[in-house]
Amino acid sequence: MKKVNFHTHTSLCNHASGTMEEYVIHAIKQGYKVLGFSDHSPWKFEDHYVSPIRMKLYEFEKYKKEFIRLKEKYKEEIVLKLGLEVEYFPSLMDWLKQFVVEEDLDYIIFGNHYHQIETRSTYYGSITKDDEMLKAYTLSCIEGMKTNLYSYLAHPDLFMRSHRPFDDLCYWASEEIAQASVKYNIPLEYNLEGLHYSKIASRQEYPYDSFWKIAGRYKCKAIIGVDAHCPEAFDRGYYEQAYQDLSSYGVEVIDDIEYRKWEQKYENR
Ligand SMILES: [Zn+2]
Ligand SMILES: [Zn+2]
Repeated sequence: MKKVNFHTHTSLCNHASGTMEEYVIHAIKQGYKVLGFSDHSPWKFEDHYVSPIRMKLYEFEKYKKEFIRLKEKYKEEIVLKLGLEVEYFPSLMDWLKQFVVEEDLDYIIFGNHYHQIETRSTYYGSITKDDEMLKAYTLSCIEGMKTNLYSYLAHPDLFMRSHRPFDDLCYWASEEIAQASVKYNIPLEYNLEGLHYSKIASRQEYPYDSFWKIAGRYKCKAIIGVDAHCPEAFDRGYYEQAYQDLSSYGVEVIDDIEYRKWEQKYENR
C-alpha cells in the first residue's frame, strides 16, 4: 500500500503554519507518494461574512499558483494534487460547483465542521453534545454525501469531540453515516490530527473506536488523512498505528481516491 495523504492545510486558513513547500518536503521525507492540498475552501458568503478560519476568495489564486510551482519542482519525488476541504452549505453549492470546475481542482473532501452557515458558535465538534445538533450533523453528512461532489468524508466521527458519551444516538449517527458511505460510495477518513488531539487530551476524541467498529461491520472503506495543520504533522508517525487500528476493526484501507467526482454521471443515484 502506498503512503498517501489528501488532507493538508496551509497558512492561508489562518490556523495552520508553515509554507506549502515545507509540507511537501516533510511529506517526501516521510515517504508519502501522493500529497493533496485541501485547505479550508473560500466561500462567497451571501452576507459578506468573513470567516476567520479559511482563505479569502482572492487568496485562492495565490494557493493555486504556488501549488503549480511545487508540482513541477517536485514531480520526480512526489505526486501533488490540488483540492479543498469543503463544507456542505446547501444554498452555496451551485456557486461552489462552478468554482471547482472553473479552477480545475483535482478533488474536494467533505469537512462537515459547521451547522448551517458558520459562525464561531456552530462548530459541530462541540455543539453535537446536544441531541438535536447531533441529528443535524448526521443528516447534513448524508445530504452532502448525496451530492456526489466529494471524494471522501473527513473525520466522520467529529461529533465525539464534544465529549458526549457514546450513547444510543451516537450509535444511530454512526450507523446512518456508515450506511450512506457504502450506499454513495464515499470513503470515510481516519483522521490523524484527531489521533493527535486525543493523545494530547489523554482521552478518545476522534477517531472513536465505537464508530469504527460500526464502520467495519458495514464494510466501509477508509482512507487515512493527516489533516496537517503544520509541516511537522507528517513526522508524528501515526500512519502505521492508524493502519493497524483500521485492520483490527475490519475496515478496508484504500490508498487512492476518485478525482473530479463532479464530472461523473449520476447513474446510480
Ligand atoms: Zn483546520
Ligand atoms: Zn482539515
